[in-house]
Amino acid sequence: MPSDQIRHIRLSSVVLPLERPVSDAKVLTGRQKPMTEIVFLFAEIATAGDQHGIGFSYSKRAGGPAQYAHAKEVAAGLIGEDPSDIGKVYDKLLWAGASVGRSGVATQAIAAIDIALWDLKAKRAGLPLAKLLGAHRDSVRAYNTSGGFLHAPIEEVKERASKSLADGIGGIKIKVGQPDTRIDLERVRAVREHLGDDVPLMVDANQQWDRPTALRFGRVLEQFDLVWIEEPLDAYDAEGHAQLAAALDTPIATGEMLSSVTEHVRLIDARAADIIQPDAPRIGGITPFLRLAVLADHNGLQLAPHFAMEIHLHLAAAYPREPWVEHFEWLNPLFNERLETLDGRMLVPDRPGLGFTTSEQCAAWTVDSCEFGTR
Ligand SMILES: [Mg+2]
Repeated sequence: MPSDQIRHIRLSSVVLPLERPVSDAKVLTGRQKPMTEIVFLFAEIATAGDQHGIGFSYSKRAGGPAQYAHAKEVAAGLIGEDPSDIGKVYDKLLWAGASVGRSGVATQAIAAIDIALWDLKAKRAGLPLAKLLGAHRDSVRAYNTSGGFLHAPIEEVKERASKSLADGIGGIKIKVGQPDTRIDLERVRAVREHLGDDVPLMVDANQQWDRPTALRFGRVLEQFDLVWIEEPLDAYDAEGHAQLAAALDTPIATGEMLSSVTEHVRLIDARAADIIQPDAPRIGGITPFLRLAVLADHNGLQLAPHFAMEIHLHLAAAYPREPWVEHFEWLNPLFNERLETLDGRMLVPDRPGLGFTTSEQCAAWTVDSCEFGTR
């Protein structure tokens, strides 16, 4: 296929309401309010050759309007570029916004565009993104998170865990990190007893323990044979995570809050985690994610990307070591397609690109949009 040119870009801001307010430990310690919605930045790119790509970034609680505003400022420079030259285009976007940095909101705005470019590239090749990248597998171990939040009473957590397993999801994660660790302990014990010893179980403290609490409670949790303890400490406490990872048999997972490859490198260099949890939209897109994946594999780390299974399923399928992908059904209303789970694994769709088109509901939840180039 000959080279092509970016002809048109549409950016949109979409507010997805959650069915009910969601609380993790950050709410129970009083640091955040329950989450009621997620704000998405969608980027849709069309080329002169009439190829199309779609990508998205997102923010929780705050930052959505800022991501949209930044993308709006830098996107016009893409018109006329060859969409296959993702490295060049990515650098151009970074330089356009260099004054506000290479992490956080600025690169999260670029992420939506970058993801759209990868989607487009895979579609041009007629391949699912995982295959374009070089897949190691056509399905990825999947675990459910959405059923294990702290606003849900334990009986509901157990019910929803059973439903997840019946739906073909392989593992269950529940939230911990409450001010009273005895309540956490009761919930973990109840879920472990409910699931039996064979179901992979993870816990996530969402950064709410200090170092002594994480060590003492981490030792208590060893009896439950957890797949990992997630975010036991502040996301930026590399040294604390490293001490914990060395002291406990249970693997330590972290990284979802970080917003650049550079921040992740600090964790990797400190040997802070056994399992790294990057989030492509949060660290600037698929381009930086792939760079990080090479470093993580080189350092012998396992991978369990955070959130956005619609994107991360492909990236996990292309990671050398057997990864996990996180199941959330929250984004389903935004798209016309659904991902399948079977025998504990999520199947990589055989549709080209990411394999998603946005729904009419997504259009109805659009609060702002802008366009560049010609339709
Ligand atoms: Mg988490």
